Amino acid sequence: MIVLERASAGGGSSALCGGYIYLGGGTRVQKMNGFDDTVEDMYNYLVAMTPNPDLEKIRLYCEHSLEHFDWLERQGIVFNNGYYGQKHVEHPTEDGLAWTGNEKVWPFSEQARPFPRGHKVTIPGRPAGTRHGRPQDDDPADRAGREVGCPDRRRRQRQESHR
Ligand SMILES: Cc1cc2nc3c(=O)[nH]c(=O)nc-3n(C[C@H](O)[C@H](O)[C@H](O)COP(=O)(O)OP(=O)(O)OC[C@H]3O[C@@H](n4cnc5c(N)ncnc54)[C@H](O)[C@@H]3O)c2cc1C
Repeated sequence: MIVLERASAGGGSSALCGGYIYLGGGTRVQKMNGFDDTVEDMYNYLVAMTPNPDLEKIRLYCEHSLEHFDWLERQGIVFNNGYYGQKHVEHPTEDGLAWTGNEKVWPFSEQARPFPRGHKVTIPGRPAGTRHGRPQDDDPADRAGREVGCPDRRRRQRQESHR
């Protein structure tokens, strides 16, 4: 197998990303915070804010969003019920729910009822305001990755740091 990489190191945007997962349609965390989001509101917003939207893909994503949430929790991923309602780039607390899009911004606010959908994974041991937690012996993300044949993320990081 040949792996081609344009940058000087691997990882791309995935290694930089904040770890928010865009989920809606009435997840447990949304409901706990009084947001009665629906599949239709989520769909309408994503269609409104996407240039040349693929309607079929967007509908599929929205209709299965609650299942995705449940699947992630079954893998051991934790979303706590906290809500962070302020403006942010990446919110500095462990709250499980925050605004990550332009849902409240006109014209989207008129095209779909606005709800927060940025679900942030709770990482045990992560100090508030930092991006990374203490490495865990049994990281649920690593475990889920191994089940689908991905190499161990932390072992790879250790190998890279010894180079
Ligand atoms: C700062 C930041 C925060 C983000 N936060 C979130 C978030 O919280 N939640 C979320 O859902 N999304 C987030 N995103 C978006 C998300 O990270 C990306 O959509 C996702 O990682 C893209 O994955 P990918 O595999 O398509 O691309 P990448 O992970 O970027 O991988 C593409 C790789 O291909 C390489 N490449 C490109 N062109 C070539 C070429 N011609 N030849 C060889 N190699 C090439 C690149 O260098 C890169 O390594 C964030 C993005 C950024 C930058």
